[in-house]
Amino acid sequence: MIFGAFWAQILKALVSSGKPVPWSFVHSWRCVNCGRCCRRYVVELTADEWVQITRLYGFEVTIPSLGAHYLKKRADGSCIFLYRVGDRWLCGLQHLKPKSCKLWPFYLREKPVYGFPELAKYSYLGREFYVYADPYCRGLIWGQPSEELVKYLLPELVEIKLGRRDRQVFSTAPIARQIRWR
Ligand code: SF4
Ligand code: SF4
Repeated sequence: MIFGAFWAQILKALVSSGKPVPWSFVHSWRCVNCGRCCRRYVVELTADEWVQITRLYGFEVTIPSLGAHYLKKRADGSCIFLYRVGDRWLCGLQHLKPKSCKLWPFYLREKPVYGFPELAKYSYLGREFYVYADPYCRGLIWGQPSEELVKYLLPELVEIKLGRRDRQVFSTAPIARQIRWR
């Protein structure tokens, strides 16, 4: 139980500064398909991701830079795979979505790099992680962690991080769960 005036002030300061927030402050997360993250960030690909994506879509959807490969962006800054359906923005790369996109807006680190170790610590599968959420995401709801977050979302993120699972259930937008991607 971390809530109370003191922790509310800490949370407010973290969110307003844009710094990653320990998961203990997160009640739940649900993507609202605003597409902001897919415009703001540049996605770096692992070697395997780059091979799979370019095999299917060609080299032109990625750009090389300083020994790494990134997903290409359009002139307006959006990821080349972001597309609009009505008032929602969806990822067109669900079946080959890079791991960094799957984990967003959470960061799973092996050390408490953003501080507050006790609030960021999460143990699962015999491993210890320090989990933070990026307050830039509009789908985060702050408060006491919900059962869904602790029992389903965080374990799924760890399994994705460790390469034990690909399929997303709790760590993707509800609309993406309903669409058959292949
Ligand atoms: S993950 Fe967050 S920032 Fe990205 S589209 Fe969903 S709600 Fe918006
Ligand atoms: S691959 Fe999908 S989730 Fe990742 S930035 Fe592009 S559109 Fe967004």
